[in-house]
Amino acid sequence: MSSPAVIRVDRLVKRFGSLAAVDGVDFVVPRGCTCALLGANGAGKTTTISMLLGLLLPSEGRIEMLGRDMRRRPPEVLERINFSSPYVDLPRRLTVEQNLRFFARLYGVGDLRGRLAELRRDLELEALWKKRTGQLSAGQKTRVSLAKALINRPEVLLLDEPTASLDPDTADWLRGYLEREQAAHGTAILLASHNMAEVERLAHEVLMMRAGKITDRGTPAELIRRYGRANLEEVFLDIARNPAATPAPSPDRPPAGAAA
Ligand code: ATP
Repeated sequence: MSSPAVIRVDRLVKRFGSLAAVDGVDFVVPRGCTCALLGANGAGKTTTISMLLGLLLPSEGRIEMLGRDMRRRPPEVLERINFSSPYVDLPRRLTVEQNLRFFARLYGVGDLRGRLAELRRDLELEALWKKRTGQLSAGQKTRVSLAKALINRPEVLLLDEPTASLDPDTADWLRGYLEREQAAHGTAILLASHNMAEVERLAHEVLMMRAGKITDRGTPAELIRRYGRANLEEVFLDIARNPAATPAPSPDRPPAGAAA
């Protein structure tokens, strides 16, 4: 991966009292690449994303986005990133149109009218346009939240469970949409997901997390080969059910303890 790193995370730690929810995490996401955080419930994925979003302050470590230290929350970087998270609700009393208009202004979107029309069409929001966001179903809210996440055509997109409440057809369509956006604009995506097929399709790199630490990393194909499994779902189950699981011997990684 030779593209420049647009997200760089160094020795990131988040402690809640005596619990290290994120415990010394390092990774980079290059331009145009998707990196997925995988791990069981409580592994530290959302906490990691929340620190990148500035919703939580790190206890230790450094986050750099688009070449800038995020501790200072530089406004010129904030306007080039965006996110979608089921834990962050859009204002419920505003209609879909009012919400998207508000965020478009907040992000200083140039062609406001054109961009809103584009997203309304692309994310099939026509029927929801005048509805209050608080009255939408979970899947409808997810589509609106993604429209908000894409409104400023972000260079860095942070997605926490982007397809969790979507029906399979809409979820599949959305993955294709993200792929096309990324190909067209070089978006860097950090994704937390429990959907292994989604991760296998979208991710260029997977970070396996357990108890706040990254325990393994690689492309989906590398991980599948390393653990001697048929797909990422089986790798995940292997690791989840047997935390001491060691990868199957493979040409790119000799068995543990083997002479170098
Ligand atoms: P899931 O897949 O269930 O969403 P996750 O990998 O996103 O899990 P986190 O939400 O990051 O996990 O939580 C990591 C750990 O930190 C958990 O043990 C959780 O209980 C704890 N934790 C998260 N937020 C807080 C908080 N505000 N105060 C105390 N502990 C917290």
